[in-house]
Amino acid sequence: MITLKEALKLNKDELKKFKDELKTKIESKPELNAYIDVNNVGDGVPIAIKDNIQVKDWAVTSGSNILQGYISPYNATVINKMTNAGLSPFGRTNMDEFAMGSTTESSFYGKTQNPHNAQCVPGGSSGGSAAAVGAGLAIAALGSDTGGSIRQPAAFCGIVGMKPTYGRVSRFGLGAYASSLDQIGPMTQNVEDAAILYDIISGFDEKDSTSAQKDDKVSDKLDSTKKMRIAVLPKHLENASDVVKAAYAQAIDALKEAGHEIVEHSLMDAKFDISAYYITATAEAATNLARYDGIRYGNRITGTNLEDTFIQSRSNGFGDEVKRRILLGNFVLSSGYYEAYYVKAQKTRHMIKNQYEKIFSDVDLILSPIAPSTAPKVGELENPMDMYLSDLYSISVNLAGLPAISLPINKTKDGMPVGLQLIANAYDEQTLFDGALSLEKQVKYTK
Ligand code: GLN
Repeated sequence: MITLKEALKLNKDELKKFKDELKTKIESKPELNAYIDVNNVGDGVPIAIKDNIQVKDWAVTSGSNILQGYISPYNATVINKMTNAGLSPFGRTNMDEFAMGSTTESSFYGKTQNPHNAQCVPGGSSGGSAAAVGAGLAIAALGSDTGGSIRQPAAFCGIVGMKPTYGRVSRFGLGAYASSLDQIGPMTQNVEDAAILYDIISGFDEKDSTSAQKDDKVSDKLDSTKKMRIAVLPKHLENASDVVKAAYAQAIDALKEAGHEIVEHSLMDAKFDISAYYITATAEAATNLARYDGIRYGNRITGTNLEDTFIQSRSNGFGDEVKRRILLGNFVLSSGYYEAYYVKAQKTRHMIKNQYEKIFSDVDLILSPIAPSTAPKVGELENPMDMYLSDLYSISVNLAGLPAISLPINKTKDGMPVGLQLIANAYDEQTLFDGALSLEKQVKYTK
């Protein structure tokens, strides 16, 4: 598959031919189920779009039954920015319902296969985007990351996935899951493409009240020769599988060979991250999803009266995982429990942010696992608690609002990709991409 950088140089006729061939290729692999539909807009470079990002006149459903029949009345800001830069939305990709999940198994449209092994999940929630790029069925894609949903599926599918600093990329037109954590980001074949797509979609937007007043760009200034001080987290590895530990050791060697300085640091126990995240995320989700009532959007089941219509539409429209989170979110926000859970989670969130600030007063980047293992088998994370615990390496980055990028390091003997992530200080995307480019060059991962 050609890279985004190469595709941006194609002329109109070449692009048209490429897109026709791409469509045929996608249709020849329906079992992958990475795309929900292929629906080109405009004549730019085709980019796959997660099904929670609005493209005017397209269906947008966040992988849910409750939004069947809903059509986007406007473009998300990222889509307008893409179109202005010569890209065009090309197909909606599959995802966990409302981005709640780590495997893409909770989608209304059924599971997506991992392109490296059909018995394995692609990760989630942006599993369709990751599988499309990993299978050579997309040049690049957009995903969203609330607690790892770009970085973890990227790692499971052998591609690059980047979550920007909170506030860098407008959330206008993104289906909200947990508004204080959500960020849209690029999923690409390599680090340079991620930087190019990041530059295109980032920047201040007056339509998003949490948008940062910053417009600095990175891709023209990429420099893999800068020598950095990089923190490693030996204690943090306890819950990682042997293949992840081996990749971590390999990445440390590669970084040293590239001339970077490695220093040891530690993070607080990840059990605090999990608790703070699942309280914060479900509380915000319960609030955000209250708008899906069967009246204003998508699917309606008409009941005997208005209340019955709400109840039936929501009972029928939401899947089990979404219902579980709405219940949990409303519980932690309820008057008797608010102080005990929600307020405590916010205090923990501050502690998590502070620990990162302390580390970044000493180093440029942190090297961390992104998931405890390679892609799990279909059904392996059926127990919700097992699934939540598998997010231990990804979610603190969102709680602290930091930028991070996951990239493939090597493959297991069974051919499954193993990825790791680099984390940078807030708004320091330049250092993040420079370090990632250096690591990518040194490990020479081959598809
Ligand atoms: N797996 C996490 C969750 O279910 C993260 C999902 C995401 O980043 N959207 O909440």
